[in-house]
Amino acid sequence: MEFALPRSPSVALREYVPGNLIYANGNRFVARRFHRDVDEQRIEMPNFEVSTERQAVKETNVGATPSALGSTVLQTIAVCDVDLVHQSHISDEEELRFQMGVAVYGLERDQHNGGKAYAWGTPALHHRRGVRLRLVNVGASGAIERQTRPDRFGYPVCTVCGQSVSPLSSDEQRRKFGENHLERCGRKITPVGFYADVVADALSLPACTDRSTAYSVLEAIRFAATQVLDMHMEDLQVLVVGHVDREDVDALLWDPMPGGSGLLDQLCERFEEVVAAAREVVEKCPSACTSSCVDCLQTFRNAFYHKHLDRKLALQCLDSWGRTLKFDHAIPALHPSQEPSEGRHPVNEKERRLRYLLRAAGFEEVTRASN
Ligand SMILES: [Zn+2]
Ligand SMILES: [Zn+2]
Repeated sequence: MEFALPRSPSVALREYVPGNLIYANGNRFVARRFHRDVDEQRIEMPNFEVSTERQAVKETNVGATPSALGSTVLQTIAVCDVDLVHQSHISDEEELRFQMGVAVYGLERDQHNGGKAYAWGTPALHHRRGVRLRLVNVGASGAIERQTRPDRFGYPVCTVCGQSVSPLSSDEQRRKFGENHLERCGRKITPVGFYADVVADALSLPACTDRSTAYSVLEAIRFAATQVLDMHMEDLQVLVVGHVDREDVDALLWDPMPGGSGLLDQLCERFEEVVAAAREVVEKCPSACTSSCVDCLQTFRNAFYHKHLDRKLALQCLDSWGRTLKFDHAIPALHPSQEPSEGRHPVNEKERRLRYLLRAAGFEEVTRASN
């Protein structure tokens, strides 16, 4: 029997990958054959430099040497249709559902439809519409964390026929899979990542000093929003955008509903209530844990950043930043045509950094006055 299980690209990016189990209609399925022959654009396989240390991706060229120490170059394919293969029936008593932890890193594609910049105490909080994001699933957390070999990134997928095998399968199984496809399809299996492009409304804390602050504050706000607003955890997504070449990160809470659900507008309107609720979540953990636990900020879905969740750090930030948002300035839309033209790019590291800081603060691209 055939049926379709449509998922949005950002959900498919996490779930429709080799090694994960998909639950539907009382049965378990696994993703098996990926259909890459949909259209021209999807045949493209962009390469990314991946830094696990900074949880960051950067687009790069084939054969390029990674710019940062300890990073890897990973080829990716676009999220696409996939055949699911039946695995087994699920009994009614079965409560625990397996979901493979995956590492999804992201980057901004320097395009959005503008918005508002607020001051939240000291830091800036931006609310922008139509932010172009590229999300990259760089592999199964379980495989990456072993980190013994660079080929543990990505997923073993044959880019000729689309067949795949779990990234958590044994070395022997992976070797056999590789040999079979080299013989049958004539190409060596090089593990690939998956990418999806999304356009979404986002609230962001640009240039956060560290990952723990970014994840802890955003997760506390998201928990609080489920109490104050009419929403589920998954209605807003947390994305911490790292950079392969520097320490600071951009923290984004984005709305996965196409066209926007309006939740971020409500969140800004009821900011005081949301911050008050967030404070409760992080201050009063029923287990009085030291950093985070399943009774406060940890969920099954956010396993990939459990180690960065620190309720006490979140509490410190919430207390020092306060409960009010003060409008600071309008953020003009940013389109690719506003990118500096050839020869007008920043000429040195300091200029490049200044351009980044100005843009992180929501200012427009600088246009040089003629004289
Ligand atoms: Zn093949
Ligand atoms: Zn706790």
